[in-house]
Amino acid sequence: MTAAPHTSQDLRQLAEQAGRDLEEASAPEILRWAADTFGSRFCVTSSMEDAVVAHLASRAMPGVDVVFLDTGYHFPETIGTRDAVAAVMDVNVITLTPRQTVAEQDAEYGPKLHDRDPDRCCALRKVAPLEEGLAGYDAWATGLRRDESPTRAHTPVVGWDARRRKVKVAPIARWTQDDVAAYVAEHGVLTNPLLTDGYASIGCAPCTRRVLEGEDARAGRWAGLGKTECGIHL
Ligand code: SF4
Repeated sequence: MTAAPHTSQDLRQLAEQAGRDLEEASAPEILRWAADTFGSRFCVTSSMEDAVVAHLASRAMPGVDVVFLDTGYHFPETIGTRDAVAAVMDVNVITLTPRQTVAEQDAEYGPKLHDRDPDRCCALRKVAPLEEGLAGYDAWATGLRRDESPTRAHTPVVGWDARRRKVKVAPIARWTQDDVAAYVAEHGVLTNPLLTDGYASIGCAPCTRRVLEGEDARAGRWAGLGKTECGIHL
């Protein structure tokens, strides 16, 4: 599929208009719009918590790029989910890695930077590699949902990512956890096995714990550190 070139001004106007026009649209309709508008300059990012958005996007755009950020700190189950997605779905999985291995980071900053300065660790291992990895795209899709946490309650289905000067698409922003579960069941979508082991939101192993009864889905991320987001979505 050919992608038309877009200037930043074009992209911003597109994002703002689409955010209004598509607020009530279904996830497949939002992804159809993204595929038609951006073609190969559109990608999906996935934490490999589940493959719901990748599955939806592969139907709108078979062979779509699915970008996964391998921080070097993932659970083995997350890496396994990525490999399974690459093996069985009609998507092109692209794995991004930080400039430094964990060992190199430890040598420069000391061990367990995630415990001492998680913002810096996320900046090095998530934010920077994603910015480099998204350089060739005009638009990217995420699995953000409004019901995940108060910080995500106003996520637009299509918005302007001013930091990266790209269109940011959240096709399941209006979905609930029940909607996700129903889609997974209906389509047999791959999910991370940790989701059936007490985890509700899955990130790097040192910064993720199981959630307790009544906690929101992201309460198990950076628990006790007063941090709720890695910086990618801020
Ligand atoms: Fe580092 Fe934790 Fe952020 Fe992963 S989630 S990059 S281990 S601070």
